[in-house]
Amino acid sequence: MSVAATFQRAFRTNRIDPYPMEILKRVDRPTTAVKENKIPRLDERESGFNRALRGDWGASLSHERHRFVAKHPLSGALVQMQFTLSELVDGMAAARQAPGTQDPVRMARHIKETAYFLRADQVGICELPPYSVYSHSMATGEPVELGHKYAIAILIDQDFKTADASVGNDWISNSMSFLSYSTSGFIACILADYIRRLGYPARAHHARNYQVVVPPILLWAGLGEMCRIGDIVLNPFLGPRFKAAVVTTDLPLAIDKPIDFGLQDFCDRCRQCARYCPSGAIPFGDKQMINGYQKWPNDMEKCTRQRVGNKLGSGCGVCVCVCPWNKPYTPFHRFIQWTMRNFPVARNFAVWGDEIMGYVPPNQKNKWWLDLEEVDGELKVPARAGSRGNWRPSG
Ligand code: SF4
Ligand code: SF4
Repeated sequence: MSVAATFQRAFRTNRIDPYPMEILKRVDRPTTAVKENKIPRLDERESGFNRALRGDWGASLSHERHRFVAKHPLSGALVQMQFTLSELVDGMAAARQAPGTQDPVRMARHIKETAYFLRADQVGICELPPYSVYSHSMATGEPVELGHKYAIAILIDQDFKTADASVGNDWISNSMSFLSYSTSGFIACILADYIRRLGYPARAHHARNYQVVVPPILLWAGLGEMCRIGDIVLNPFLGPRFKAAVVTTDLPLAIDKPIDFGLQDFCDRCRQCARYCPSGAIPFGDKQMINGYQKWPNDMEKCTRQRVGNKLGSGCGVCVCVCPWNKPYTPFHRFIQWTMRNFPVARNFAVWGDEIMGYVPPNQKNKWWLDLEEVDGELKVPARAGSRGNWRPSG
C-alpha cells in the first residue's frame, strides 16, 4: 500500500457524527431506572413557565413572565423566530413514498447526514415512548394525539465561548437558550418537511410547539444521561450546554441505544451545580423515584422563580456554566472527558481540577454581548448583573 493510501486509511473516516459517538458505551436501557407503567403523560400547561404566566405563584411573577422574552433585545429577536417556526411544524405527506426509502439502516444514516448538513450538533433516533407524548399542548390547550413510531432528536450547542464568559445569571442567559431552541427548531421544521416530501408523515416539535416531552427521547436516543440538575439530560461532549428539538415520524428508521458514560456516579460525587444554584433548586441528596423515574428531585418553583423573576439578568443558567462537563472540545478536554468516563476515581478530582484550571470564575475577556434591559418600552443599561451563584468556597 502506498504511503498516501496508508495515510488516508488511518486518518479519513466515514463517521457521520461530528462527535465520536461510536466510542460511547451503549446499553439496553437508560442508566436512570425507568418504570414505564408508572409514568403519567404530562400536561404541558402545568410547566413552570406556564404556571408563572397564569399567576399560580403571584401577580408579580406573572408580570415578569410577560416581559421575560423581550427583556433583552437579542432574546426577543430569537423568540420571534420561534413564533414564526411554530406555524411550520406539520403538513400533508406526499401521496407516494420515494424510491429507496424503505431500508431503515440506510434511512437512519441518511436522516442523520441530512440533519448534520442542516448544521445540527448531534442527532439520535429512538422509538417514540408513548409516555413522552404530552396529554395537552400548551400552544393550543387541546388534547394531544400523536401516533408516530419514531423520534429523531436534534441537539444544538449553546456555545462554549459564551458560556465561559457568562456568569449564567446575567443578560445573555436567555439568549443562549433561545439560540439553541430557535436553531434546533429551524432544523426540525426543514427535516420534517423533507420527510413528508419523501412520502411519510412527520411533525417537528420545538420550543413554541412541542407535543412531546424531550428528556425521555434524549435518553432512549443515546444522547445523554439524566443529571443532578433535574429534569434535563447531560451530554458527554456538550455537558448540559444544549437545547433540543424533535421530529416524530413513521419513516422506517434504525434506532440508537442509550449510553452509559458514568454520569450517575459522577453526579453522586460532584454536586457543583447544587453548590452554585442561586435559588437552591438543585438537591445535594440522593435520587428518588418520582413519576416513574429515579432522579434527583429539583424544585421547579424555585428554579422558575429565579429565571423568570431575576432582577439581575434575563434567565439563569448558572448550573450549565459551572458543570465540569461544560468544556470546549479540544484534545486536552477530550482526554479529560475520556478519563472521567472510564476511571471512577478520576471523577473525584473533576471539581478540584476546574478550580485549579480557573474554570469556576467567568472568563470576562470573552464577553461580547450588551447588557441591556427593556423597561416600559425603552432599553436601559442595568445597574449590574448577577454572579455565578450564591456559594463561596470556605477557608
Ligand atoms: Fe439552574 Fe439557575 Fe434553575 Fe438553579 S435556578 S437550577 S442554577 S437555572
Ligand atoms: Fe452532575 Fe456535577 Fe454537572 Fe451537577 S455540576 S450536573 S452534579 S456533573
